[in-house]
Parts: sequence; structure tokens; C-alpha cells
Amino acid sequence: PDSGSSQPGESAGPGDFVPVISVRGLNVTYPDADEPALIDVSFDLPPGRHLALAGPSGAGKSTLADAILGVAVPTAGSISIGGLTPREMIKKYAGAVAYVPQTVALISGSVRDNVALGLARDAVDDDAIWRALESASLAEFLRDSRDGLETVIGERGVKLSGGQRQRLGIARALYSNPRLLVLDEATSALDAETEHAVTTALASLDSSVTTVTIAHRLATIRSADLVLYMEDGRVKASGTFDEVRTMVKSFDRQAGLLGL
Ligand code: ADP
Ligand code: MG
Repeated sequence: PDSGSSQPGESAGPGDFVPVISVRGLNVTYPDADEPALIDVSFDLPPGRHLALAGPSGAGKSTLADAILGVAVPTAGSISIGGLTPREMIKKYAGAVAYVPQTVALISGSVRDNVALGLARDAVDDDAIWRALESASLAEFLRDSRDGLETVIGERGVKLSGGQRQRLGIARALYSNPRLLVLDEATSALDAETEHAVTTALASLDSSVTTVTIAHRLATIRSADLVLYMEDGRVKASGTFDEVRTMVKSFDRQAGLLGL
């Protein structure tokens, strides 16, 4: 249903954003690069689904995520998100898109400041911050022994581990209530708690939220609706976790070693 309140020419609220992703024959070649970083990538992701990008380092996973976010520009082919190019989509629905990078940048300040990035104190909903921290498995760490949302982190406060930083990034993303969430799992933050946090956070999302994860951990890949296994810029296999397993030997071996 139409909100009825938007005026002609006014940018639309996230309410009418349908984050369906359609990629056709996508190529990306970076300026000055000899080889393309992405070659002939095609897939469809219905809204509310979870896409996991897997494959070795240099395969093109981050480039594909950047292309979805409108940062990397197609040299050929197309990406459509809700019928718009990524750049049009970001412009129109900026607030509806959240990105969690591998290395989450902290601002010097409290946990509250860091989760509600840029919002004035009286615009911040502390209950919602706690819910986001809860879903990101950071609440327990803060609730009892620290100063709660006032806990100062970063250089001048409590030092966070790589995993905790990533979890803070997840809380920040969840707090913004995105319709499209892109998450680049930290390779260095291999602690079990962070792995658990990523899967819990993804599971906590409203079923209308489209998620793209660059998945380094199999737990994340396993729950994905669509796995793209990438190598040398190409999609070598796509399907569910089990389908990709039957198609990619090294992937199957890796899963087997982890008892999956
Ligand atoms: P992944 O995330 O799977 O490790 P990337 O998408 O980061 O892979 O990289 C894919 C390829 O593109 C690699 O060969 C990488 O060296 C190259 N590449 C990535 N970013 C740039 C850039 N900004 N300029 C030139 N080449 C790049
Ligand atoms: Mg990468």
C-alpha cells in the first residue's frame, strides 16, 4: 500500500524499496588492471533472500559487493536493484542500505555514539540500541561489567577485539533498520562468538531484508539461500550450500574437515 504522504519529486521512503537484485553478464575491470575482476556474472536474488559469496582471495567477491553498492562500476552487463541501477538505488534509498566492512571504523566516543552513528543524542532510541547489540552478541559484554551504552571504546576507551569490532559494525547496521544489508565478514575475526553473532544477526532480520554476505565462515554460507562460489572473477558454481558442495571439490573438502 502507498504511504500516501510523499509529494511528487520527494525522495521515497524505504517503504516502497523492493530489494530484488538482478545481475546480467556483469564485467568489472579496474582502471589500469590487465585482467577483469569480474567476468560474465549473472544471477537473480528475490527480495528478502540471503546471498553468500564464497571463494578464494582475489576471486572478485568484494568487487561484486562493491558493484551492488554502486562503488565499482560495470564495464559491461548490468545490475538492477529494485529496477534501479545501484547508484540510483543508493541515492534514492540511502537510509535503507547498510554495509558492514571487514574492518569496522570506530569513532572516538561511547558505544551509543558508535551504534547510532551521527544521530543526535535525543534522536537515539536506547532500547533499539540494546536490541541491535543483543542481535550482534555484544550486549552481554556491555551490560554488566562496563558502563553500558556509555562505555567509551576505541583509542581512549575499552579496546575491542577484531571480532567485537565487527559485531559493533553489525549492531550499527541493524540499528539503521536496513532493507538491503551487505556484510563482508572479517577474515581475522575467527572467534566462535563472532561467527555465532553473524548467523544470529542474519537470522534476526525481518524476512523482507535482502542480505549479501562475503562469507568466510561456513556457518554463514550454510544458511544462505544462494551461494555463488567464485574463482578468478567468475562464478564457478551457484546454488544452495549442498549443491555447491557437490560441484566444487575444494569447497566440499573444507566443509568435510569442519564436520559438515
Ligand atoms: P576478493 O574479495 O574475492 O578477495 P577482490 O574483489 O578484492 O577479491 O579482487 C578481485 C581482483 O581485483 C583481484 O585480482 C584484485 O587484485 C583486483 N582488485 C581489487 N580491487 C582493485 C582495485 N581497486 N584496483 C585494481 N585491482 C583491484
Ligand atoms: Mg574481499
